[in-house]
Amino acid sequence: MAAKVKRGDRVLVIAGDDRGAQGEVLRVLRKENRVVVSGVNIVKKHQRPRPTGRGQVGGIIEFEAPIHISNVMLICPKCNQPTRVGFVIEPDGRKLRQCKRCQATFV
Ligand SMILES: [Zn+2]
Repeated sequence: MAAKVKRGDRVLVIAGDDRGAQGEVLRVLRKENRVVVSGVNIVKKHQRPRPTGRGQVGGIIEFEAPIHISNVMLICPKCNQPTRVGFVIEPDGRKLRQCKRCQATFV
């Protein structure tokens, strides 16, 4: 199935602890149907210093953990509203995404 959400999209979180938050999609994990959204689902990890390897320093690091793609809604780049996404095939064969709200199409 084609991706409803791509890297660089703005999305609204609709479920979970960060419900209502908006952010940019930083990564899409297609196999797991998960996305990483900037500023959303921040987790802390206590990391030991590792003398070998990549010179890791110890301490508490914070990073965005992936969330399920069904917990986000695309914010349409045209109408700026959270929307469901459809797909349309152009006459030249290109597949575009379509905002179900304003019907605008985009890559
Ligand atoms: Zn729209």
